[in-house]
Amino acid sequence: MWSITRHVCRAQKRTLATEITRAMSVQDDPRFRPMFDENPDNPLVHKHVLTAQQFDRSGILKVMKVAKEMHRLRQTGKPLKYAEGKILANLFYEPSTRTASSFASAMMKLGGQVISLDEMTSSSKKGETMADTLRTISQYTDVIAMRHPVEGSVGSAAQYATRPVINAGDGGGEHPTQALLDIFCIMQELHVDTLDGLTLTLVGDLKHGRTVHSLAQLLGGFNGVTLNCVAPSILQMPDSVIKQLQTSNVKVNILESYTEVMPQSDIFYMTRVQKERFATDAEYEACKGLYVLTPGQMTSAKDHMAVMHPLPRIDEIDVGVDKDPRAAYFRQVGCGLSLRMALISMVLGIPV
Ligand code: ASP
Repeated sequence: MWSITRHVCRAQKRTLATEITRAMSVQDDPRFRPMFDENPDNPLVHKHVLTAQQFDRSGILKVMKVAKEMHRLRQTGKPLKYAEGKILANLFYEPSTRTASSFASAMMKLGGQVISLDEMTSSSKKGETMADTLRTISQYTDVIAMRHPVEGSVGSAAQYATRPVINAGDGGGEHPTQALLDIFCIMQELHVDTLDGLTLTLVGDLKHGRTVHSLAQLLGGFNGVTLNCVAPSILQMPDSVIKQLQTSNVKVNILESYTEVMPQSDIFYMTRVQKERFATDAEYEACKGLYVLTPGQMTSAKDHMAVMHPLPRIDEIDVGVDKDPRAAYFRQVGCGLSLRMALISMVLGIPV
């Protein structure tokens, strides 16, 4: 189906995400060294954004500071010129509604421009290697947002880019920008500057959900966090993520039901069962529809609890919940715009 390089095909078998971003410490990985110059206020200047593991507490908080400022600037309604003369390439080899349009909108809100490519419109259709595509796109643009269905492929492709590459989702691997926007949304919803001491409940397909993989890893940057992972055992959070959390200060509870933990939760993060990641329809059918959040269940939740979802929603949140002021999932989308404006300006090295 995909005209991808032999390099990426090999990556599929060996899951390069594990090979490159997990086995090697990000500090040792040349892809995370600045391409040009260092800036103490901006840990991302001219760097790729490939994994949540790149972000320690201080890095997360620096991104949040810029996102907060972008959020404020957006509300003034004034046109911005931070990225005037700069071009973002949106390179999406997998479907996207929010992430692609959010990156494009973010770049345009910053005064920059956007080139969009997908597997139908790019030369990958003619058999061009991913390496050559990235080398070429780097000549035309200043920053590249890339999504691909193969886990680890964005990290692999980034080696060939001479511009910062932002991972916009690599198969069932990671989605670091979604996780950063989730942190920003949590801070906005709960009116806090840190996630220290919070209880988060993640529900659904935690095995294939790349957003929760990245979010869980970012939680390691905070103190006293409790993370309830609610899923049937076959869709539980991968052991690699759990092990990593155990080395941090996050208390992890593995559960199959959220009834008991909902009253203590500050954040209730629902996810869809990721149909496209199952080997057969029968396996998907056996897992779907297990969890559905209803208005009735919300009566046991805290008054300030925020319900989040990376979207798209299939059937896991009853539409009746939308009217509840605690339903934060569409405000979460707006937080994503401010956060991506922050990330684009940071990797471009633009002072905000
Ligand atoms: N939009 C998110 C993603 O790209 C969540 C999802 O698709 O379920 O991973």
